[in-house]
Amino acid sequence: MKQLIFILPFLLFACAGSEEQEASTTTNDTEIDSDSLITEDGVSEFLWNFEGEFTETQQDTLKAWQLEMQKAVYYTLGDYPFDINVFFHESTRKTSSVSFGHTTRKELVEVHYYVNPNASLDALMGDWTSPHELSHLSAPFFGKSRKWLGEGYATYLSRRIMVDMGIFTEEEFEEMYSRKINDTREFYTDTEKSFSEVSANLFEEYHYGTVYWGGAGYFYIADQLLQEKHDMRFTEVVQKYQTCCRLEDKNFGDILTSWDSIIDDTLFSDLLAKYEDGPAVKVWDLFD
Ligand SMILES: [Zn+2]
Repeated sequence: MKQLIFILPFLLFACAGSEEQEASTTTNDTEIDSDSLITEDGVSEFLWNFEGEFTETQQDTLKAWQLEMQKAVYYTLGDYPFDINVFFHESTRKTSSVSFGHTTRKELVEVHYYVNPNASLDALMGDWTSPHELSHLSAPFFGKSRKWLGEGYATYLSRRIMVDMGIFTEEEFEEMYSRKINDTREFYTDTEKSFSEVSANLFEEYHYGTVYWGGAGYFYIADQLLQEKHDMRFTEVVQKYQTCCRLEDKNFGDILTSWDSIIDDTLFSDLLAKYEDGPAVKVWDLFD
């Protein structure tokens, strides 16, 4: 098994913790050659790696969790056209099932979870860390300057997956989104800096949860516009993306072009301009 070296900076760049305060994403994520991404037989497999002390029963529970999550994520976002190396690390923090997770898309596609070995399958299934991390992998890395949008993407899609899993109802989803996104409003009142620039400042001040939900607002509005103008959901765009574009695109510019071309509209780039070009405070016109 590959020996990994975990150092303190890694902890600072972990992507998602199960606490309400969501941590920052890994920053060293780069997309890998698409040739090495393609699955041998066209079926995406999860490959298991355990770091720490896990009994056979505990390992079976963790594998069962990830196989259920694979089904749920692929149901909502489409089958991913690559294998995923799943790493389970024994967490020293036993207060939650999954203390945090992160992904890498370098030589291999990897998802890492820091788990409580005693966590039950039920507790693991109700945790948002796995839908969040696996959502990240449905697209190439958005780039450091668009970390706010990448985290918004995973935050939005993780809850869409959890609606399909029956963990939230559509009504609870709507209530949660209007509440969580509204809670970020007071941080985005700048009349000169863009939403994107304000997000970068908030990351520096460790307001991770604010940026995650602020960024999720982009996808919440995009999903509404898609339903109004194209009678489709954003998750359908992500499903189509897996087959047309996931292995082709290299950077966020490619991703944005692909999203627009899937719907034959400039909806995604037009909306992004409001977040990146205009003042942050103007973004709220979209929500009122
Ligand atoms: Zn994340």
